[in-house]
Amino acid sequence: MRHLSLLLFFVLAVPVMAQRSNVRLGGEIVDLSHAFDATTVYWPTAEGFKLSTDFEGMTDKGYFYSAYKYSAAEHGGTHLDAPVHFAQGRHTVDQIPLKQLMGSGIVIDVTRQCAANRDYQVTVADLQNWERRNGRIPRDVIVFLHTGFGKRYPDRKSYLGTDERGAEAVAKLHFPGLDPAAARWLVQNRSIKAIGLDTASIDYGQSTLFESHRILMEKNIPAFENVANLDQLPVKGFSVIALPMKIKGGSGGPLRIVAFR
Ligand SMILES: [Zn+2]
Repeated sequence: MRHLSLLLFFVLAVPVMAQRSNVRLGGEIVDLSHAFDATTVYWPTAEGFKLSTDFEGMTDKGYFYSAYKYSAAEHGGTHLDAPVHFAQGRHTVDQIPLKQLMGSGIVIDVTRQCAANRDYQVTVADLQNWERRNGRIPRDVIVFLHTGFGKRYPDRKSYLGTDERGAEAVAKLHFPGLDPAAARWLVQNRSIKAIGLDTASIDYGQSTLFESHRILMEKNIPAFENVANLDQLPVKGFSVIALPMKIKGGSGGPLRIVAFR
């Protein structure tokens, strides 16, 4: 009996024990998610978000009732890329430790560079310039790249570089991302929990090999894409909570992400 209860403790209690995080709640809340609707931006090859009405109105019993159903690709709107999206055997959405999805954040501002060049890739020098002004990128931080492209959302032509759909449209994507050399520098020299940005992909629009995805995700680092309102965050000193829909085995999913500044 004693053994049984000990066994039960480890089987039942250990997996649900709280994980520690360094999130500091309080201050102003900033919503970093775009809403999901018919205008939500998806990859040119993906179907968009659909919401249809099961019922909406007065029932014959005299009370109001509404219920809808939705369908969507994992990767669209404000969403999370799980490491398994580009790295076999790495975390699926439901396997990412929660403590990795919450913590303190920093913002690398590359709006000037991206306004001059919509194919801009954030460089190692951009990261080092941030450190010269703000000190070393803290351990276990969530990094945001602020390209300024969030302001263009959801105008597909302006935001993605094309409003065309289908496989041929992919070559016409033009938006900023993270240079693979900078992704490599981050995983080799710093320890980050996750990285997010206000474009449709962590690799820039013209990427064909998705190297930054592969470098980060090999190390089990998830990405947040199509993040909103990065212009409302300070350069550092804020906390983030980024909780995707817990799709078992998923390679990504819709993300509700908020910051406390
Ligand atoms: Zn994605």
